[in-house]
Amino acid sequence: MSHRRFKRILLKLSGEVLMGPGQFGIDPATVDRVAGEIAEAKQAGHELCVVVGGGNIFRGLAGAAKGFDRASADYMGMLATVMNALAVQNALEKIGVDTRVQSAIPMASVCEPYIRRRAERHMEKGRVVIFAAGTGNPFFTTDTAAALRAAEMNCDALFKGTSVDGVYDADPKKVANAKRYETLTFGRVLADELQVMDAAAVALCRENRIPIVVFNIRDHGALASVLSGGGTSTIIQN
Ligand code: UDP
Repeated sequence: MSHRRFKRILLKLSGEVLMGPGQFGIDPATVDRVAGEIAEAKQAGHELCVVVGGGNIFRGLAGAAKGFDRASADYMGMLATVMNALAVQNALEKIGVDTRVQSAIPMASVCEPYIRRRAERHMEKGRVVIFAAGTGNPFFTTDTAAALRAAEMNCDALFKGTSVDGVYDADPKKVANAKRYETLTFGRVLADELQVMDAAAVALCRENRIPIVVFNIRDHGALASVLSGGGTSTIIQN
């Protein structure tokens, strides 16, 4: 199925993706590679914005399990996403891609605050806008932030870059003959509790008719090839 019709896309990068082969933190070589994938998609004529996660550095739920107050732990998680956003920005700028980071938690000396209309303008000018600090609210995830920003920025699709090339009926890393779905409906994902994105994010995409494309960002060239109709992925839509 061709995804050429998706002119403007939001790319969700989980923190895990930026960790590369490591167990924690940011792997510069991996960030450079991902930046190259984004540049390639841009060169093919797509408009891109990015939401970055923070799980490679800090997750609110894990912090709360260790005794931190949940809301404080979530703020720590949101701050982690800002570090990742700056890393992605750096890698993109190094290869000549114009970018802006906008944070849902204002921090004027580091990046721009999130202002929807300004973000729109950046995209019109061909810049890649990287959204940091999730939604700015504790008790949410960056998946939900991705769905929210995709709706606000009028994106044609939300591309979720993961470490598997789509949604399977069982964990393909554990079950040898697990079957990949080519397409799925939002209803099915929610009813079967398929672990694609959290339910709030899926519901938001369903309500706003924004297809979710799940693909493996670890495969070299996957983003551009899925966008041009090749590669493997799962598309979730109404
Ligand atoms: N977070 C939050 N509100 C948001 C987005 C994120 O509180 O709107 C916090 C939450 O603690 C989360 C952490 O930031 O665990 C990192 O985000 P996430 O777990 O979504 O990152 P990913 O799994 O994509 O790496």
